[in-house]
Amino acid sequence: MKKIKILILALLLFSCQQQTANLNQSDDNPVKRIVILYTNDEHGWMEPNDKNGGAPGLMGLWKNIDGFQIDGPFLVLSGGDMWTGPAISTLTSGQSMVEVMNMLGYSAAALGNHEFDFSVDTLRKRLSEMDFPILAANIREKDSGNRTDFTQPYIIKELNDVSIGIIGLTTMSVPTTTKPDHVAEYIFTPYAEELSEIIPQVKSEGAELIILIGHICHEEMRELAPLAHELGISIIGGGHCHQLFEEQFAGVTLIQSGSCYDNYARVELFFDDFADTVISISSSIQANPDSIRDISIESVVSKWRSRLDKTLSEVIGYTSSEIQEKSPEMQNMITDSWLFVYPAAQIALTNTGGIRQSISQGNITVEIIFGVLPFENSILELDLTGRELIDCLRSDIVFSGMVNTVDGYKLADSSILHSDSTYKVLTNDYLYSRPDLNYQKYDEDPYDTSINYRQPLIDWLKNVNSTTEKPINVHLDTKSRR
Ligand SMILES: [Zn+2]
Repeated sequence: MKKIKILILALLLFSCQQQTANLNQSDDNPVKRIVILYTNDEHGWMEPNDKNGGAPGLMGLWKNIDGFQIDGPFLVLSGGDMWTGPAISTLTSGQSMVEVMNMLGYSAAALGNHEFDFSVDTLRKRLSEMDFPILAANIREKDSGNRTDFTQPYIIKELNDVSIGIIGLTTMSVPTTTKPDHVAEYIFTPYAEELSEIIPQVKSEGAELIILIGHICHEEMRELAPLAHELGISIIGGGHCHQLFEEQFAGVTLIQSGSCYDNYARVELFFDDFADTVISISSSIQANPDSIRDISIESVVSKWRSRLDKTLSEVIGYTSSEIQEKSPEMQNMITDSWLFVYPAAQIALTNTGGIRQSISQGNITVEIIFGVLPFENSILELDLTGRELIDCLRSDIVFSGMVNTVDGYKLADSSILHSDSTYKVLTNDYLYSRPDLNYQKYDEDPYDTSINYRQPLIDWLKNVNSTTEKPINVHLDTKSRR
């Protein structure tokens, strides 16, 4: 009997590969095909760029290569961290990316730490615009112990006559990897405990196939895999560490697609709806070269680009003389602005190589500041002793919060930098990762403020409100502090 059944299933499998469209429509055929298209850490990279085809390229591939149809047997899922990134998404607090992801047909996303970057109120607003939910079984309110009302632990989705339970997890590192104030009211609970509690519920509601989407890294995915297998989870999609892999581990398919829409992961499975079991499963990673663009998504991306152009042309200040790229006033203005928006720190350091353009005499626009500070660098907060800080100084590093004097480095409060005292120091993630500097040795676990290194300058310029009568250049400190 068993052999016959296998033979029948093999024939069905063969026929469904040959005649996918017919099979998907057939109610009496027990073998159902499901295709999962998976991305994580999209970080707002909707525009085609020199690395990938962005969202238009992705949809172009899905439609032309994978045969994607919104009402087909396709499940589009995200591993979280959808919005914070290039200006086109960051300047709209993710709103533009939500519209694009709706068009891409996502069914659910895991909750990423960066979903909190623009505050919980903004997250709620984004959710009201989204056609899909954000899932996390392991976030709870600190006071009540209840799960938060803006996320769901899981959903059950009917696809091709199969009830699919999709459960979410978020990284337990959220409190240190987004702005801590934004998540002070929540606790992030252990993955295994929450999964063990929630899975029986998911099954009792009829889930036949179970998929876990977690904003968690490869190592954590592997640690969870044996329990996941025991609980009946077939696939774990990850995120957060921007890793690129697909593998079978402990009886579970693990996938992660890198980041920024460079790639996507594809899982194709055949499910026997009579026996309630997965017959076959195959996974792959697909690159997203800028080959075939989907026109409708491209037009939405262009719409946001043109709206953004209005934002970029906003006048935020005026200078009556050129502020030169390599001048102390430029360097001091930039690092001073960091301490202006982040007064909890005492010292701010950046590299002159990250300052790319002069500011010409006349109006200063947001776009000019994007030219001066063009990189997607974010500001990190480190705890360094005076000795460690001095060891990290190089000829291309400029700073705020201290001045080099004959007596040593003098701080803003007129005290002298002490070798053994610890200071709160801001730097950018580029410098932090630079191998000739010892930042990583001195502070293994810096706090990522998620503030782009240009944003403080924009905020500071708006705050000063310079005009032709009160030009910004008269406010600047023209003395080198090195
Ligand atoms: Zn993350």
